[in-house]
Amino acid sequence: ADISMRIAAGEVIERPSSLAKELIENSLDAGARSISIQTEQGGKNSFVIEDDGCGIAFEELPLALERYATSKISDIEDLERISTLGYRGEALASIAAVSRMEIRSRARGAESGGVIRCEAGEITLHSETPAKSGTRVQIDDLFFNLPARRKFLKTSSAELRRIVQIVNDYALIHPEVAFRLSEENRKILEYGNAESVDECLLRRWGRQTRIYRSQAQSGALSVRIWWNPAPDSRRIAVTLFVNGRRVQDAAVRAAIVSQDAASYGEWLVLIELPAQEVDVNIHPTKEEIRFRRSGDVFKTVYDCAKALFAQRLS
Ligand code: ADP
Ligand code: MG
Repeated sequence: ADISMRIAAGEVIERPSSLAKELIENSLDAGARSISIQTEQGGKNSFVIEDDGCGIAFEELPLALERYATSKISDIEDLERISTLGYRGEALASIAAVSRMEIRSRARGAESGGVIRCEAGEITLHSETPAKSGTRVQIDDLFFNLPARRKFLKTSSAELRRIVQIVNDYALIHPEVAFRLSEENRKILEYGNAESVDECLLRRWGRQTRIYRSQAQSGALSVRIWWNPAPDSRRIAVTLFVNGRRVQDAAVRAAIVSQDAASYGEWLVLIELPAQEVDVNIHPTKEEIRFRRSGDVFKTVYDCAKALFAQRLS
């Protein structure tokens, strides 16, 4: 890959947890019911993700690696109402540019599968092969061709912690999907299917936790919030998903922090709104977003959080 591609790739892919986020989102977009990740050295040496989703047809494998190739949007109008998590067609191309990558996949209903290998953006193998239905992506030696980036990575356990957080968060809001994570063959996380987000939260926060839950609606904007006041905590942790995408947003955090009552504890905030009301296209990693009516979002989240304090007092 040329220098500019490598630099651009470094923007989308910062560290092994970026692989987790992008590849989990791809698996979810593919309709997976089971997602399993295996890492070595916190994903620095090896990151493998397997899913049972719709798969990629043999002929489409090279396309999946091409920059700006996405099967998820076909015209400019689609860009206005993005409903899948991916849409930029950047993740696989970016990862491929800065690693050694192999994808094995069999599309649902296809007789046989395919494998494609890529090293620093150059395809080195593309052939038919027997494969399990679904997709397996393996990334070895992330940033092997960007030594400065590689040096910047943290210890294996620190990188693993970030991956754990990503898996934990996606597992929370996808009760219908089983998630597994292991590092060097050691089991780290295992979540079977659950009935609801509530059940996932109890799993995460502990069965004894008293969870406060509230929802609010403003036109087409829907906000659901779960709060674990964690009485010993002096920390406010906000996990936010907007239309299924894990993001950060200062206004949402402010709406929780600026309450009169103490808002210590853990928060899960799920916001759904029409795709054209939110611009996810402002940053390559899609971790920052812009609400078209951020005042409205602030107020709705604020009111919804406020209702939780009232519940707690009553
Ligand atoms: P995007 O998600 O933005 O479309 P990606 O680079 O992440 O772009 O993926 C490129 C394409 O590869 C996707 O549009 C999809 O068609 C295909 N793809 C990637 N991962 C999977 C997967 N796990 N299962 C099925 N198809 C996949
Ligand atoms: Mg994607």
